[in-house]
This record gives sequence, structure tokens and C-alpha cells, in this order.
Amino acid sequence: MKTLAEQYSDIKKQIPANVELVAVSKTHPADAIQILYDAGQRVFGENKVQELVEKYEILPKDIAWHLIGHLQTNKVKYIAPFVHTIQSVDSEKILQEIDRQAEKCGRNIQVLLQIKIAEEDSKYGLTFEDAEKIIELKMKGEFPNITITGLMGMATFTENKEQIKKEFAALQNFYNKVSAYFHLEKLSMGMSDDFSLAVLCGSTSVRIGSAIFGARDYR
Ligand SMILES: *Cc1c(COP(=O)(O)O)cnc(C)c1O
Repeated sequence: MKTLAEQYSDIKKQIPANVELVAVSKTHPADAIQILYDAGQRVFGENKVQELVEKYEILPKDIAWHLIGHLQTNKVKYIAPFVHTIQSVDSEKILQEIDRQAEKCGRNIQVLLQIKIAEEDSKYGLTFEDAEKIIELKMKGEFPNITITGLMGMATFTENKEQIKKEFAALQNFYNKVSAYFHLEKLSMGMSDDFSLAVLCGSTSVRIGSAIFGARDYR
């Protein structure tokens, strides 16, 4: 059995140096995060607000925490004081609340717009049209306390590589289209099972959990 540090180092080697690695630590204890931190990892992703806050409180303060799971408006206030990036912006309403809470904290919060690219009936994510509308509002001066740094997408949960590739390519196309008139730097796509394919499709940030930490134990 490989140690966590060895597993991390193996994955790290498979990711090009110019692609960001978000280590998805959801369900894993703070000690496991600390081991990766000691190996040099600074960017971690969590999908639940309460778990994120608890880990933030006990772990080193220079960790860049990314929220990658659906966010409810009444919970934005708990993470606004410290969160680095909210990757899961899936409505105009949540963006308004993030902007409001960022202002209260005197911060500017980075966000990614989560786009629904999967064919399956996933609940969350903006259409390309919704995302363009939000970007237009931002360009007109709305949401002054947030910076839209990029887009995030999750492919269909399937073995069919062609299907996944098609979905990543659609998001890459849209990213390129928007980049022609609005500055973006992050295209967040790719998880444990599909990050190599995502990188081939232009991903600049991958979110990897189980390939580093092992299977999650949901209780
Ligand atoms: C859990 C999760 C991941 C990581 O998934 P793995 O398959 O464990 O790598 C990536 N992105 C999001 C949005 C997630 O919820």
C-alpha cells in the first residue's frame, strides 16, 4: 500500500506544471489534509459549508479553500470571511448574495460559473445562456465585490470516453468564446477518473479527490 504522500506525489506527476491541482478533501480528516500540506499542497476543495468551516478553523491559514459543492444563500455568510474561490456558482441569486457578503467582509471573492455540461439530469449548473447573461451584468458593473475568474463543469458519470470528451469540448468551446470579450483564466474540469482527458481538452484546473485520498466513506 502506498502512503498518502506517495499517492499525492504520483498524481502530481501526471498533471502538467501549468495546471492547478485542487485536492478534494471532502469526508477526509484534517490529519490527511495536513500530510498533503506538508508535502506542499495549498489548494483544497470541499463541498459542504460546515465541513469547510470546521477544517478552516483548525488547519494552516495559508490554505486556499475552494468550495466545489452547491451553496445555499443562507450559508454564504459562514464562508465569505475566508473562502478563496467558490467554484459552484449556479444562479444569479447566489452570486448576488456572495457579492453582498464579500462587501460586508471587505473582501473580493473569486468565483467560477458552474456550467451544466452533463447529459444526465444533474440538478445544478447554468446553461451557456445563463452564464453569458451573468457575465454581461458583471461587465456592466454589477457584482463589484466578486471576480469571475473562470468556468467549472462536471462531465456525465459514464465509462463512455467519447461522451465525456464531447462534454469537455463543449465547455472548452464556450470558454474560448467568452474569453474573446471577457478575461478568464480558469477552466476547471476533470476529476479522478477523467482528469487526463480534461487536460487534453484544455482544462487549467483539475479537482481530484479519490485518486489521492482513496475511496470516500460516507456515513
Ligand atoms: C467530489 C468532487 C470531485 C472529486 O471527485 P473524485 O472523483 O473523488 O476525484 C470533483 N469535483 C466535484 C464538484 C466534486 O463534488
